[in-house]
Amino acid sequence: MRTRFDQRRPDGVAPSQGAFLCAHCNSTIPGEAPGTRHRNHCPHCLWSLHVDLRTGDRRSGCQGRMEPIGVSLRYDGDWALLHRCQSCGLIRMNRIAGDDNPLALFSLAVRPLGRPPFPMDLLPRMVSGGQDLSDGEEVQS
Ligand SMILES: [Zn+2]
Ligand SMILES: [Zn+2]
Repeated sequence: MRTRFDQRRPDGVAPSQGAFLCAHCNSTIPGEAPGTRHRNHCPHCLWSLHVDLRTGDRRSGCQGRMEPIGVSLRYDGDWALLHRCQSCGLIRMNRIAGDDNPLALFSLAVRPLGRPPFPMDLLPRMVSGGQDLSDGEEVQS
């Protein structure tokens, strides 16, 4: 399925230094980003493009759209964004930028809490440790 977003930069030239058109929300994004040397995702919707082999080199032939799938803590305590390429499946960790939408970041960070892998009403019994709550598996006690 092709969309008009697929035709960005038809001549392969960025309009200004590092600026790009977001392939997801169609915002025009300036190249300069506070807090990072390589702007690699949209500060509004946080989507990215698979354009780098290594950070900032723009040498990947994939060009797939990369969905923000989560937030991780870097070793230095900063937040990082996890992106997954919709074309090739690559998962990459990217530094957040100072102008990233805080609401979008936060909703991404808490997203797993909205889809817990077990019924939330069982949580009190699970943390108190006593009961067999798994489906069909024996729990040794
Ligand atoms: Zn966007
Ligand atoms: Zn890719």
